This record gives sequence, C-alpha cells and structure tokens, in this order.
Amino acid sequence: MPKPPRPEKGYFGKIDATKKKKIAEEKRDKMAYEERKKLRELHWRKCPECGMDMESAVFKGATIFKCFNCGGAFLHAETLKKLCGEDKKVIESLLDLFKFK
Ligand SMILES: [Zn+2]
Repeated sequence: MPKPPRPEKGYFGKIDATKKKKIAEEKRDKMAYEERKKLRELHWRKCPECGMDMESAVFKGATIFKCFNCGGAFLHAETLKKLCGEDKKVIESLLDLFKFK
C-alpha cells in the first residue's frame, strides 16, 4: 500500500508560525492603545538582546538596525526576502556583519 504524500519540509513550521502570529495579533488587540504606545516608546530601536540603542545602517541598499554593543541586528522580514532574492550569497554577507561588534 503506498504511503500518503508527506508534507513539505517547512509545512509544520509554517503552521506553527501562523498560530504564533494569530496569538500575537489577539494579544495586541486585547491591549489598550495607550499600553501599546507606551511599550513602543519604551522599546523603540532598543536591542532585544542587551537593551542598548540600535543604529540604522544601509546594507546592499536596504536599511537594517545594528547593535554596536552586542553585535545583534534587526531587519524586517520583507527586507530579508528582498535581500535574499537578489543575491544568493547575501546570507553569507549578513553573517559577516555579525562578526564585528
Ligand atoms: Zn545588543
């Protein structure tokens, strides 16, 4: 008897991410506007790892945010997709960014 087709490799990860996104949206919707505004002001451009200020930097024409204290970096998902679509070696180049602090 043939086995049913297996889901693609990232199938379960995608379901998990979809659930997490829905939970985050529900949590956001339950928070009062003023509470969300306060959180945004408190954490705006702060490194999620060490809490220091992040600085904007241009990488291959896209804006990213880098922490010069711990070496962390932030970029929006759309920016990452754009960068990866343009150059297959972009991930290696990004890793080079994390080598210096
Ligand atoms: Zn940091």
